[in-house]
Amino acid sequence: MAGGGHAVFTKSMNAASLQRTLIRTIRLYPLIAAILLGVAYLLGGFSNRADPLVPKDDVVLVLKIFIGIVPVLITIFFLLINSLHDRESKARTQLQGRFAYSDPFSLPNEKMHGYKLSYISGRIPSFTGLTGDLYSSDDVATCSIDSSHVPPVIDCECGFYAFKSFKDALFELSINPGAFLIDVDLYGVGFEYARGYKAESQVVNSLKLPKRCMRCKVLPIKCFVTTYKMGLNSYSFWKWEVRCAMCSATFKAEDVVGLQEMGTLLKTSIN
Ligand SMILES: [Zn+2]
Ligand SMILES: [Zn+2]
Repeated sequence: MAGGGHAVFTKSMNAASLQRTLIRTIRLYPLIAAILLGVAYLLGGFSNRADPLVPKDDVVLVLKIFIGIVPVLITIFFLLINSLHDRESKARTQLQGRFAYSDPFSLPNEKMHGYKLSYISGRIPSFTGLTGDLYSSDDVATCSIDSSHVPPVIDCECGFYAFKSFKDALFELSINPGAFLIDVDLYGVGFEYARGYKAESQVVNSLKLPKRCMRCKVLPIKCFVTTYKMGLNSYSFWKWEVRCAMCSATFKAEDVVGLQEMGTLLKTSIN
């Protein structure tokens, strides 16, 4: 991406990291609330003594601020970040539009290597995008919206996506429990985005497994197991996760797959 691409990239990284920081902070909200309550209690804020260290009215005021105003502020922050994102993607679309139509032969020729999230689903395990599309370890994108599209199409969702940065993918993983992190190379016609790429075809280099069991989150992993998830809207599916010896003990043999065996089934390497 030429010209103003760098500026857009930097600004977007700021919005993305702002969002990460905000979500991390929100996770502390219950903890801070509990600590505040504890401190107020210890200082006598809840007692009916005549001379508490902290007047009861002050305690009530602080709690009102914390319960009423903080969530409103958080909501406002999210709205601001979203509008920042929107402006960025509009700017990017314009850049890409200009780029695509004025110089169609100057496509990015750097290697499009990245990271992304995938679920593993199906009775026979398959990579499954967060939107529910199944794909193999070496696949060409198709468009589910417009059959005349040959992905990637600039103003459509179609194409394979990947983050450039491992950190961005790791953060997405932290808000998508049940998903796995995969390392991919994208090929063919590709577009560069602020945080990654979107391209025609994709090869999955490896599947990164979590260190701990996806159920108890404590013990080391032993194997994959599958469970049938009843979905809303008649969308039900077999979902695979990695578990420890204990959390996988009750599964029937046909619902268990070894760690390396899963690599063979998915035709990718496991690490
Ligand atoms: Zn499309
Ligand atoms: Zn476990």
